[in-house]
Amino acid sequence: MINDLGIYSNNSKDNLLLNGNESPKNINKDKYFKILENLKEVDLNRYPDTDGDNLREAYSSYVGVSSDNIIIGNGSDEVINLVISKNIKSGDKLLTVTPDFVMYDFYTALNEGNVIKYNLDVDNSFNLEEFIELGKKEDVKIVMFSNPNNPTGFAYSTENIIQILEAFKDKIVLVDEAYFEFNGESVVSLIDKYPNLIVTRTLSKAWGLAALRVGFLISNKDNINELLKYKTPYNVNTISQEIASIYLTEEVDSLKENLKLIINERERLYIELKKAEEKSLDSKKGNIKFYKSKANFIFGRADNKEELINAFREEKIIIRSFEDNSFRITVGLPEENNKVVEIINDFIFCRSL
Ligand code: PMP
Repeated sequence: MINDLGIYSNNSKDNLLLNGNESPKNINKDKYFKILENLKEVDLNRYPDTDGDNLREAYSSYVGVSSDNIIIGNGSDEVINLVISKNIKSGDKLLTVTPDFVMYDFYTALNEGNVIKYNLDVDNSFNLEEFIELGKKEDVKIVMFSNPNNPTGFAYSTENIIQILEAFKDKIVLVDEAYFEFNGESVVSLIDKYPNLIVTRTLSKAWGLAALRVGFLISNKDNINELLKYKTPYNVNTISQEIASIYLTEEVDSLKENLKLIINERERLYIELKKAEEKSLDSKKGNIKFYKSKANFIFGRADNKEELINAFREEKIIIRSFEDNSFRITVGLPEENNKVVEIINDFIFCRSL
């Protein structure tokens, strides 16, 4: 079942899910058993550590800031909501781009705010001046965008983000770095230089721990202290805190290995999809177009998108479909990506599998 936010409720293992930008690999089985062994010590009768001291400490070493600069969240979704609900009151405006992560709209609407969307023209380059001008004209309270962008895979340069921080000095600028590891560029080191900067991160993507629902907010200490007044107590459960802390401390090497695999596969998949794009120029099914990505997914547009989505469904593969002619495919394991290329080529040449 797919809800209004386009989120697929997966209650069957029969489908290959290439719609949620998750990691294609589960954690190593030996590691898993070792972790379960540690969990025997957990006091299930007690509430979790509300501040998540061990978890923040573990993330602080990975991210390179003090643990006092970090708030833990039940997924980065929760800390994004924390920033929006603290700052957006009825009629307040949030500037983002379109397309971007659907939850910015969702949380802003819950707080009766308005989302102002700058059209991210992925066919050309991002027009920074126009983006800033729109935010100024609309007198927005928050500027928020994902980098790399979900769903297009476009990445803003650090210079552009600095110009945004400078232009909106008295507003909050939230840079959502959910997919940062696949791109490698972060603005976390700027949190003390720019008091208006908030960065959010997650363990759901490159770290492959989506089931835990662990995310982080990183900012200067004044912002952290202010936001903590609004944080829900005990928001990250003990089991997730324990597993995430062990993983962050002991599994940086496996993270790097997985990243290498996914980035290589992303580049290989992109090349294959671009070949398919060229062939689609002569196809009765209409044109298909793919975009270069700095994340773990590839964005595309198709004249006959619904038919393409169904071609995937027939092969029990779920990809993300948007309201217009666009779609997004998560980079999977090599054999999964081969299947994606095969389905698209068969679709273009009207072959049935
Ligand atoms: N930001 C972006 C851009 C995302 O794509 C997602 C998940 N799809 C999130 C934040 C939320 O991730 P999580 O709540 O799992 O940390």
